[in-house]
Amino acid sequence: MDNNTGFKSGFVTIIGRPNVGKSTLMNKIIGQKIAITSNKPQTTRSRIQTVYTDMERGQIVFLDTPGIHKAKNKLGEYMVNVAEHTLSDVDVILWLVEPSNFVGAGEQHIAQILQKSGTPLILVINKIDTLARKEDLLQFIDTYRKICDFDEIIPASALKGDNVSDVVDTIYKYLPYGPMFYDEDTVTDQPERQIVAEVVREKALHALDEEVPHGIAVTIDRMKPRRSTKDKKKIIMDIEASIICERESHKGIIIGKGGAMLKKIGSNARFEIERMLEQQVNLKLWVKVRKNWRDSDSMLKNFGFKEE
Ligand code: GDP
Ligand code: MG
Repeated sequence: MDNNTGFKSGFVTIIGRPNVGKSTLMNKIIGQKIAITSNKPQTTRSRIQTVYTDMERGQIVFLDTPGIHKAKNKLGEYMVNVAEHTLSDVDVILWLVEPSNFVGAGEQHIAQILQKSGTPLILVINKIDTLARKEDLLQFIDTYRKICDFDEIIPASALKGDNVSDVVDTIYKYLPYGPMFYDEDTVTDQPERQIVAEVVREKALHALDEEVPHGIAVTIDRMKPRRSTKDKKKIIMDIEASIICERESHKGIIIGKGGAMLKKIGSNARFEIERMLEQQVNLKLWVKVRKNWRDSDSMLKNFGFKEE
């Protein structure tokens, strides 16, 4: 049965070279500073899902540049490699470029892969506020049109917010009908909690390797900013999180000898969370055993997979 009752939902990925404005666009769409913007290219990033919900239109889940690895080629140019299988996981691809007539080897390569994916493809020509001559834009559009058969091409300025609502409208146009994955207010109210939980989980999985085969969940039990007692101008984010596992034996592995494993997970997570929040973080981690947590829907809710 076709569920085209009006509500749409799906996954969107934003790809593009470092510094093209991906994080700025995300921030503008979500309206909160949840992705990091910086002038330095980001080489490592955890996969983050950012949810944009409009109860009238649907829910967009943004995947932060999945499966994209940036590396310099011989010319010192950034090549963008996209693992093809990850592209089939998304419903819409946003490709951000800067207004330019130059299409490098990286772009040619990515255009071929994107074309083959069959996924709706939207080209966003960002930073149009930097154009000295507005009429150049038509030329840039033409240049890109030649390398790939885009479903839409949108000139925009993520920084100024120009045409950002067009980008959102266009995503909805191509998003399939579907159910809500997250509660309405999941990200608008608590985006950082989800991101923090994801970071802790990622660091834990990384440190644990294959040792905890049945997986873990992470809940954020407390997340509150406070003023530093030493420096009243400084804000410290106190975070308490729990790593949930299924067995006592797993708990032992996660804690490690003398707490070494948990300490490692905690310090790796704290480092990344501080970088993301641009704030000093005080992170406390707990390990809890909940048998069969994955089987229980109400437990999943409690564990932050769905916010109550
Ligand atoms: P990312 O690496 O693709 O995530 O790029 P960022 O979002 O971190 O942006 C890199 C730099 O480009 C930052 O200094 C942004 O302020 C700037 N930037 C992003 N979008 C625009 C835009 O539309 N116009 C201008 N002038 N600068 C932008
Ligand atoms: Mg970025």
